[in-house]
Amino acid sequence: MTEHRNTDSARMPALFVGHGSPMNAIEENAFSLSWRSLGQTLPRPRAILCISAHWETFGAHVTAMERPRTIHDFGGFPPELYAVQYPASGSRWLAEAVLGNRAVTPDQAWGLDHGCWSVLKNMYPEADVPVVQLSLDRNLTPREHFALGKSLSGLRDQGVLVIGSGNLVHNLRLLAFSEGQTAFGFDWALEANALFKRLIDEGAFDTLMAYETLGRAVQLAVPTPEHFLPALYVLALKTSGERIRYFNDEPWGGSLTMTSFLVE
Ligand code: ZN
Repeated sequence: MTEHRNTDSARMPALFVGHGSPMNAIEENAFSLSWRSLGQTLPRPRAILCISAHWETFGAHVTAMERPRTIHDFGGFPPELYAVQYPASGSRWLAEAVLGNRAVTPDQAWGLDHGCWSVLKNMYPEADVPVVQLSLDRNLTPREHFALGKSLSGLRDQGVLVIGSGNLVHNLRLLAFSEGQTAFGFDWALEANALFKRLIDEGAFDTLMAYETLGRAVQLAVPTPEHFLPALYVLALKTSGERIRYFNDEPWGGSLTMTSFLVE
């Protein structure tokens, strides 16, 4: 295991993770192994702020409890998955920093949903980094989500690892398995994923924010916004000199992509 670098004061990268199936929390596969490796090689965060696809609210909320519960927000999975607990503490300091002057409300009821803990269980298995979640406000436009993300950029200089957790391409209704194989993507899924990466590389974030106008492949890839929006939060944190490093750039089950990226 690689030793953590101590970087309380260093600028943290920002991370978008395609989380895919909740089973990635407990399965050893290429995705979960890459998350484990990230946890061992990234500068060690003082705290984590996670924007998960699985917490949508009216008005933005931030978890402000000392001990966020582990939420098993899915159905039809084996008992081992429901037995997983991720007992990371919350962070009063980080919750207050997120509240700041923003239109965000402190929350005492949520906790950590699987968009957050399925990834963190692999990245930080000891659950020894405090975690705060920020919800997706259903009232906001993509541009307003991006602006809210940008307003959080100072946190990177305070040792906070911001993680957006969703999937760039995510259409569960069209999920399919070809002869038991999961590692394939429909043409439209691959097309939309390639377009998203090109727009990210070109810094064409305005175009990404107008994803609803980008044609049929993107409409199929983003039938509802919640898995796509966390990527906007992470892109909003990118400064001009920084680069994007992709990983897990693979389709899954035809209609998902696991494509993830680090802003560093
Ligand atoms: Zn999900």
